[in-house]
Amino acid sequence: MQNAAILTVDDDPSVSRSVARDLRRRYGDRYRVIRAESGSTALDALREIKLRGEQVAVLLADYRMPGMNGIEFLEAAMDVFPLARRVLLTAYADTDAAINAINIVDLDHYLLKPWNPPEEKLYPVLDALLEAWLTTPAVTMPETKVVGHRWSARSFAVRDFLARNLVPYRWLRADEAEGARLLAAAGLGEADVPVVITTDGKALARPTETDLAAHVGMATTPASDLYDLAVIGGGPAGLGAAVYGASEGLRTLLVEQRATGGQAGQSSRIENYLGFPDGVSGAQLTDRARRQAQKFNAEMLTTREVVGLERQDPVTLLRFSDDTAVAAHTVVLATGVSYRLLDAPGLADLTGRGVFYGSAAIEAPNCSGEEIYIVGGANSAGQGAVYFSRFARRVHILIRGDDLTRSMSRYLIDQIEGIANIEVHPNTEVVGGEGRDHLERLTLCDRRSGRVATVPTSWLFVFIGAEPRTDWLGDVVARDGNGYVLTGSDLLADGLRPAGWAPSRDPYHLESSMPGVFAAGDVRAGSVKRVASAVGEGAMAVSLVHRYLEGR
Ligand SMILES: Cc1cc2nc3c(=O)[nH]c(=O)nc-3n(C[C@H](O)[C@H](O)[C@H](O)COP(=O)(O)OP(=O)(O)OC[C@H]3O[C@@H](n4cnc5c(N)ncnc54)[C@H](O)[C@@H]3O)c2cc1C
Repeated sequence: MQNAAILTVDDDPSVSRSVARDLRRRYGDRYRVIRAESGSTALDALREIKLRGEQVAVLLADYRMPGMNGIEFLEAAMDVFPLARRVLLTAYADTDAAINAINIVDLDHYLLKPWNPPEEKLYPVLDALLEAWLTTPAVTMPETKVVGHRWSARSFAVRDFLARNLVPYRWLRADEAEGARLLAAAGLGEADVPVVITTDGKALARPTETDLAAHVGMATTPASDLYDLAVIGGGPAGLGAAVYGASEGLRTLLVEQRATGGQAGQSSRIENYLGFPDGVSGAQLTDRARRQAQKFNAEMLTTREVVGLERQDPVTLLRFSDDTAVAAHTVVLATGVSYRLLDAPGLADLTGRGVFYGSAAIEAPNCSGEEIYIVGGANSAGQGAVYFSRFARRVHILIRGDDLTRSMSRYLIDQIEGIANIEVHPNTEVVGGEGRDHLERLTLCDRRSGRVATVPTSWLFVFIGAEPRTDWLGDVVARDGNGYVLTGSDLLADGLRPAGWAPSRDPYHLESSMPGVFAAGDVRAGSVKRVASAVGEGAMAVSLVHRYLEGR
């Protein structure tokens, strides 16, 4: 285990050096040997190691040290690394203290100084301790850690963000021992959570998504001022456009406000996407698409929201929410749609604390053995129900209509009918939710009889359709009454081109009312709301981008 450390502390520099030398000679190829000359500096080193997510296998402390003696040090060190093996170095005269320490700090061994020759007196002891340590289950590789509260919307948001961006992390509750140990090592408390500890040991208290993105290695600022193609939105349509654009030699920038994958990234299993007969999870599909775009050198920004488009011939400026901007010759709008919120008293305050939009798959293991409620009758709700049925005791699907046939694909209805712990409640809607720090009860109404009932539950997953969030476009591009972007022939009213249209041609098929700005995927008026069509439109938009660039 390359990262694990053996730490030795002795206030006598010559003894400290010679212990470290003996340890390095035998263990230096497998362990990092660290030495300190006081208990407090040794503790600082331990905290740093803890934050970096590395391990300490053995601690060797001299008994007689000024300020903090060896037993006091080992006692404090146990709070940081409870599973590290503990050895006290003593003189013969201090044998009694060493024996007492066996009870105080659960000492594994005491070594009488001097221990020469080490082959006889030091190494056999250390070999046995290291072997014992290696069989403990605490040995983990460096990883991002999130420390937070179980029912905290902010903690959920951080975990959700990391999960959607496919950053592996370990979740630790602040009120459990290891979580508390990490907070203490970072000099932080429960009031600071959520705290994210990065793989290089930095502790970020209540980080913004942009902080988080930057610290886990995602790009957040553009490398250049000017691109051939800027794609706004990193769902299937945007990723499709980025892959085709970059692979065909266009300097391509993709800007995503949250996490690549978009809605598709949240799907537990996409069964109808061509080429995946056994289905594919949204996370897998996103991961592959993202790697493919990167392979062709598409530049990808995460946690950057585009809030304005402005024509400055011959380019279009994309304005970000922090007032910076980047220019591109062509733009593909692929901003998709966002979940519609369920409007019932009490639910808004409980969002992220029992009320979740979309599948929130990271919560599935926490629903183990519980009653959960899903609102919605479309495919996304059906997929969610099938997925959660593997964890929950019972999944209740609430729909306003009489049955699922009008809104859900037959293959999903068949699956649901074959799963014993899914129950469909027709003509039912949620009219309220309550709970102190998290959802505890839902109020349901039977739409036919008007009867109202309260059910105990901590879990509500809402899938009630979506709408485009295109208000930021204002009048810059023409939109229909529901906010979807109009393109191609839809822009021609009685054969007339849109107001202000300069080119001496009609708009291309996916082109918006601003020349050189295209729309692809769910955000486009009249689009089919499917992964395959979004990817296809992304690809098609790029071929129209070429036509636009050639014809200028
Ligand atoms: C749970 C679920 C399951 C589904 N299952 C299936 C299925 O099995 N089969 C199927 O064919 N379809 C399925 N769909 C539908 C499919 O996922 C969508 O049709 C598809 O994702 C649309 O892709 P898109 O790229 O157009 O938009 P989206 O996927 O919505 O992506 C848009 C992206 O743009 C980003 N964005 C928005 N505004 C901005 C801005 N101003 N600046 C920067 N970025 C921005 C968003 O954060 C988002 O990531 C499912 C949808 C859901 C929610």
